[in-house]
Amino acid sequence: MRRRVPDFVRKILFVEILKGLALTFRTMLKPPVTRQYPRERRDPKPGFRGQHAFVRNPETNREKCVACQKCATVCPSRCISIRYETDEHGVRHLTKYEIDALRCIFCGYCESVCPVCAIVLTETYEYASYSREGFVYDRERLLHNWDRFAAQLKRPAYFNMFWRPAGADVKRLAVVRRLQQPVPVRQTPDAGIAGTREPRAGQGQAPTQGDR
Ligand code: SF4
Ligand code: SF4
Repeated sequence: MRRRVPDFVRKILFVEILKGLALTFRTMLKPPVTRQYPRERRDPKPGFRGQHAFVRNPETNREKCVACQKCATVCPSRCISIRYETDEHGVRHLTKYEIDALRCIFCGYCESVCPVCAIVLTETYEYASYSREGFVYDRERLLHNWDRFAAQLKRPAYFNMFWRPAGADVKRLAVVRRLQQPVPVRQTPDAGIAGTREPRAGQGQAPTQGDR
């Protein structure tokens, strides 16, 4: 059994100080861990919750949102506003969708509850803007965010881990989510650097209370 050195001996011999100095000298000999950002970028881990986007449906080339309003209902920040029209068959058609990203707390509830895997928090983490309007994402901007994210993705397809969370009972998921396959990503070289462009004129109107 290892015998413990009495405290007063450790104090007299400066044991803790010597241990600290030894750690300092060992670290001095290791290569630096500083990343030369932005030249060296990190690849976010799966499940990273970054800039919002509408997944572009490869079949329709539009968003998949069915205006169910689940995301707006569950959002704790009340930063999603939705409007829709209902046709004679009772089918909802989205007329307005906006997220105020400055109010978002990136909890991921919206992407977790979406029954059709329409809204996602992408792995894009660089999206500065000079104006508040630059953080209000409407339908076109959300699709645009997807295109930029897709252009940067180093994988040929995207699958959000929240669409089928580990340990979830797959049978209890919505049918679309159960059948959801990885979304093929078209690499679009002209998509530019994520989040550095301002929204186009006419986009980015602030959501109003009671929209949803
Ligand atoms: S991630 Fe943001 S937008 Fe989505 S539910 Fe959470 S607070 Fe709302
Ligand atoms: S939960 Fe999905 S389908 Fe429903 S309104 Fe939100 S984004 Fe659209």
